[in-house]
Amino acid sequence: MDSPSSLSQLARVEHLEVDTSDRALHEARADKSGHRSDSAPLAVVYPSTIEAVQTVMRWATEHRVPVVTRGGGSGLAGGAIGSDGEIVLSLERLNRILEISISDRLARVEAGVINADLNAAAQEHGLWFGPDPASRAWSTVGGNIATNAGGLLCAKYGVTREAVLALTVVLADGRVIHPGHRSVKGVTGLDLTQLFIGSEGLLGIIVEATVKLLPTPHTETWTLAARFSDIAAATDACEDITSSGHTPAILELVDNVALGPIHEYLGLEAPEPTEVLLIAQSDSPDAAGDIATFAAVCERHGARTDSHGPGPEAEALLQLRRSMHPAMEQHGTVLIEDVAVPLATRGDVPRGPPYRSRTKRADSHGRPRSRWQPSSELHRSWRDRTRAHLGGRGRTVSCSAGAGWHTHRGARCRAVEKALDSRRARRRPNRAPPGNQVGVRPDEHSQPRQNV
Ligand SMILES: Cc1cc2nc3c(=O)[nH]c(=O)nc-3n(C[C@H](O)[C@H](O)[C@H](O)COP(=O)(O)OP(=O)(O)OC[C@H]3O[C@@H](n4cnc5c(N)ncnc54)[C@H](O)[C@@H]3O)c2cc1C
Repeated sequence: MDSPSSLSQLARVEHLEVDTSDRALHEARADKSGHRSDSAPLAVVYPSTIEAVQTVMRWATEHRVPVVTRGGGSGLAGGAIGSDGEIVLSLERLNRILEISISDRLARVEAGVINADLNAAAQEHGLWFGPDPASRAWSTVGGNIATNAGGLLCAKYGVTREAVLALTVVLADGRVIHPGHRSVKGVTGLDLTQLFIGSEGLLGIIVEATVKLLPTPHTETWTLAARFSDIAAATDACEDITSSGHTPAILELVDNVALGPIHEYLGLEAPEPTEVLLIAQSDSPDAAGDIATFAAVCERHGARTDSHGPGPEAEALLQLRRSMHPAMEQHGTVLIEDVAVPLATRGDVPRGPPYRSRTKRADSHGRPRSRWQPSSELHRSWRDRTRAHLGGRGRTVSCSAGAGWHTHRGARCRAVEKALDSRRARRRPNRAPPGNQVGVRPDEHSQPRQNV
């Protein structure tokens, strides 16, 4: 492609900014996966209307330019990273909340709306938006849908999939489709909406979404901190909690590998080296009663517990969990492996991957700081054990919310990509993990990306 002259066609499109500045290209080479592309994309484009997105896709198809879609860039799987020969399509200016319907309990939003902004707007109407990834302050609704993001509340309210009613999607050739329904009973037709949820930018560009809102609970939430001295006791307690007939809204286990760095990051006193923290929260009409039951279960498994009604202590506990990623980031590149298993088998998941301290360096105050890095050998062995263990249905491993490797991916997924004409360019060697591209390279076939 003669890039400058072709790009200049795009630069004349209404409601579209084409940015080729060093700063924009530099930022688009990385997301929160810890990887950085070794080359810059051609441009970052910022459409502010659906028509402008369509124009970009028609242009990209005509010029055979792969497109990497980008929301807030908070993804952990490298899917929003742009590289040589690609354009990065940022949804950040498609950020209007188009409707909040109290009677239908739904919102219609453009894909670049920040999750927390939608939640704040919904709360003004006594409603809230269920998906709550820890990145909600800067991840977008489109990105949450594209990664099928979960959050602390997914134990009770499920992942983003549960909140999506309908989508507007721009396909690789610029056509627009509207899968889904606005009604509660939306059962006619094939459920194409589900195909796009979790598709991580592979099948098309989500430009608008109709999402369910939930009524704000009128009860007070209660939160439990249970501290165990080993993880097996904690996972046994989790199993007894979920078998108890009560549904926790949050059930989060922070192991000792993460707990130490989190305490350090938040400036808290160091925990016992083997301490494992289980955080449970209930928002049911008898939240205090639920938490008392969960505390009794945990104490039976040897935990020390404390319970809190709404207030700063409860918020501080959730903050501990939300600080996991930035806390680990302080120690080097964070390698996230998201293992999903049925609840009853969670205790058998191999632990790891082990991290080890490789180098010591001084921080800005001259204090020595250890830099932790995953050992590739140890990580490989953990990964192999995990894969062998997960060799059954319904269990997945990915770089956190990745469309990447799972037990079902293969020819059928590739057939869908082909059917939607969204084949990706072949992964090129010597590159950081490629951004997930929608677009066609006629001379190359697509290859499934394996996140592990
Ligand atoms: C501190 C931190 C905490 C996190 N906590 C969680 C968590 O609790 N749960 C969780 O699941 N994830 C979590 N994540 C991961 C990440 O925030 C989520 O995956 C989030 O949903 C990504 O949204 P985004 O707008 O930043 O998307 P991006 O990072 O910009 O993109 C992610 C992927 O989606 C594609 N994409 C983005 N927008 C669109 C669109 N409109 N149409 C089509 N494809 C699109 C991109 O191409 C890319 O493949 C966390 C990340 C960080 C850094």
